[in-house]
Amino acid sequence: MTTTSFSDLGVAEPLLRALRTENYETPTPIQAQAIPLLLAGHDVLGIAQTGTGKTAAFCLPLLQLIAENRRHPGPRGVGALILAPTRELAVQIGEGLRTYGRHMGLRHTIVLGGVGQNPQVRAIARGIDIVVATPGRLLDLVNQGHVRLDAVTKLVLDEADRMLDMGFIHDVRKIAALLPKERQTLLFSATMPKPVERLAAELLRAPQRIEVTPTASTVERIDQQVFFVESREKRALLAELMADAGLERVIVFTRTKHGADRVAEQLGKGGVAAEALHGNKSQNARQRALEKFRTGGARVLVATDIAARGIDVDDVTHVINYELPNEPESYVHRVGRTARAGAAGVAFSFCDPTEQAYLRSIERLTKRPLTIARGTPGPVARSAPARGGKPRSGATDKTRSRPRGRQQRAAA
Ligand code: AMP
Repeated sequence: MTTTSFSDLGVAEPLLRALRTENYETPTPIQAQAIPLLLAGHDVLGIAQTGTGKTAAFCLPLLQLIAENRRHPGPRGVGALILAPTRELAVQIGEGLRTYGRHMGLRHTIVLGGVGQNPQVRAIARGIDIVVATPGRLLDLVNQGHVRLDAVTKLVLDEADRMLDMGFIHDVRKIAALLPKERQTLLFSATMPKPVERLAAELLRAPQRIEVTPTASTVERIDQQVFFVESREKRALLAELMADAGLERVIVFTRTKHGADRVAEQLGKGGVAAEALHGNKSQNARQRALEKFRTGGARVLVATDIAARGIDVDDVTHVINYELPNEPESYVHRVGRTARAGAAGVAFSFCDPTEQAYLRSIERLTKRPLTIARGTPGPVARSAPARGGKPRSGATDKTRSRPRGRQQRAAA
């Protein structure tokens, strides 16, 4: 396949200039597929995960089309609407619009819950080109009469499957009902469960379906290792791993908010600068934690799945699953936080005996068994014989470690 450039895809000069500044040389596969279709005015159903470049895939054509066909949406009106399931993702898309659109002179704003509504109301009062919103707050502002959606010509639904998981599909339908029928619609989702298919069928007209790298291959570049460990040993294992300076910028995932706080606190006591990120924190506290992590003030970010959606921090060297997620798709999202934009990355998963079924679902989804960790630190080595009957050291090659891994799991 010959490599195309952004210019070959029809991207306009002011956007190309911004992309040069960002050092984006080659479009990613989702960009190569989506950009020409969107510029041609098609509705698009895109199956792609974060980390594939999907944000630019829809932001670039959106900015270009709005700039080419600039119409004032009228007071309190919105020209294009992007819906995202979480605040972090919305903020991130807003950053994308600012970065790629810096030479376009378009106005956008972000509408999300958990912060005061007045600045959002003011930003939209005179009408605005693009709004990035989480569904609940947007509906709130519409119901209060602060926002009109009858001038929207473009609708983007990002991470539709997450919208479903988080119970927003109903709000999305309500919002869609307020939009003009005559519009261009784009729906992105990492997976396509039935309710998302149904939603797509309702909202999109004759969509072009594009799909990049199925879930399994998204994570291929990532070195994925599992430590079989008792729950009570996880803390010591984490401390031991963190003693390696090679773990420069690390995201640790926990299942609960409380767990995230506790792990961050334990790391702090051990002298490792860590910030917790979860849904109980205010929007400002979450942004502060992220910023500290992004700028290197904290070496570790301890996050729950929902808070982690849409986090885009470059050069995350390691992802650690302190607890395995109960939804296998979350595993893919988590480990995708490392190895972004073509870089390599490492993901460690701590699997205690109660989590072995989760591990099995993950491996079924990714169609790729995790490697049993090499050089297993103390706590694991000590406890391994009790489960497997053999010492774990040297259990590094997949052909040997797999059957034993299965036995361990079957016995659990
Ligand atoms: P996304 O999947 O939209 O979350 O993007 C993943 C990451 O890839 C972000 O950090 C983008 O800045 C980066 N990125 C997106 N497109 C490109 C590209 N064509 N070249 C290099 N980096 C990119």
